[in-house]
Amino acid sequence: MSTVDNFKERTESLLFSTYGRYPIAVKQGLGSRIHDYDGKEYIDLLAGIAVTGIGHCHPEITETLTAQAGKLVHVSNLFYQQEQLELAQSLLGTAHFGKAFFCNSGAEANEAAFKLARRYQQRVQNRDAYEIISFEGCFHGRTLATVAATGQERFQDGFAPMPEGFKQIAWGDAALLEASISPRTAAVILEMVQGEGGIRAVSKEFAQSVARICKDRGVLFIADEVQAGMGRTGAWWAFQHFGIEPDIMTTAKALANGLPMGAMLGTNEVARGFVTGSHATTFGAGALVSAAARKVLEIITRDKLVERAGSLGAWAMDRFRQVAQKLPHSIREVRGMGLMIGIELTFPGKKVWERLIERGFILNLTQERVLRLLPALNIPREDLELFAQALEQVLTEQA
Ligand SMILES: *Cc1c(COP(=O)(O)O)cnc(C)c1O
Repeated sequence: MSTVDNFKERTESLLFSTYGRYPIAVKQGLGSRIHDYDGKEYIDLLAGIAVTGIGHCHPEITETLTAQAGKLVHVSNLFYQQEQLELAQSLLGTAHFGKAFFCNSGAEANEAAFKLARRYQQRVQNRDAYEIISFEGCFHGRTLATVAATGQERFQDGFAPMPEGFKQIAWGDAALLEASISPRTAAVILEMVQGEGGIRAVSKEFAQSVARICKDRGVLFIADEVQAGMGRTGAWWAFQHFGIEPDIMTTAKALANGLPMGAMLGTNEVARGFVTGSHATTFGAGALVSAAARKVLEIITRDKLVERAGSLGAWAMDRFRQVAQKLPHSIREVRGMGLMIGIELTFPGKKVWERLIERGFILNLTQERVLRLLPALNIPREDLELFAQALEQVLTEQA
């Protein structure tokens, strides 16, 4: 039995079968390279689904974790902690928000945002508003409330009834949003670049319309930056490309470079919605994850990785468009923002994806036809060049 078949068999017998897994058993990683148990090396263009934003086992993060693990790991949020404050200060320094709430995942950050939006409307504004509006093609998580907001049949199948108070409307239509807001609407949640939805960026015009409509109607604007945030698009937060200031933002994936951490940031005004006891989490912002996340922010800033994501992403998209020009019958479109890149094929891409995996490139296939790249912000440019060459070869063979 091959190594990976052995892993498959043990995984099927021991774990709930919730995941379709890639045929790779990962042993170790460093930077943008990972190795399987047979010693094969891969170029990682997925970074744990936009999580290891500064690469696997970054030596300075390892050093920070090692030192912090010998000092303090967790005491709960019943205590004051320096690591948490330093992280909050760094994180708030990246945007216009006034306060942070830390949790452990993207879904939890969105749950916190929904709760804050409702409580702010009901207790601060004295409005009987609770409804959250989301957009088609979005992804906000897998808890019941976030699955209700995500609104896709395949994520809701068998889980009825869904929590009430969620409404989904077509993506990119400002007039429809205007018409869909009622006195019951508490907030609107938007990804500036839909990740799971196939790397679809909103237009500047639409982003600005959402911000303006929300403001005019007294509805809170939540930016879901769980995937697009932390510098990936060439700005700390994708909404910053559009000159808008959402009331609430959520982030998670790349925040602690692989340790579970989520955050909700809000303006000082909306922060009035939570008082002592309103919301809580046992693990949120423990000393260990906080120290790691703070170091991540320090490294991204020091190494100018936000700027790098913007320029390297532009270079990579140009390069992939050269491939597309040679193979117009295979590639429909190359799109994205910074190092959040989608290559849409003209046909279902499972075979192409398999060939690329065989050749040692890790990437994701989303929406059946979109090759999704979410590499570390410090990936060597040569690795993206190698991928461009492999993509051209694989598509030529397939044609
Ligand atoms: C991944 C993701 C989430 C959910 O994050 P989890 O950590 O898996 O709960 C929410 N929103 C967006 C945009 C995401 O990409």
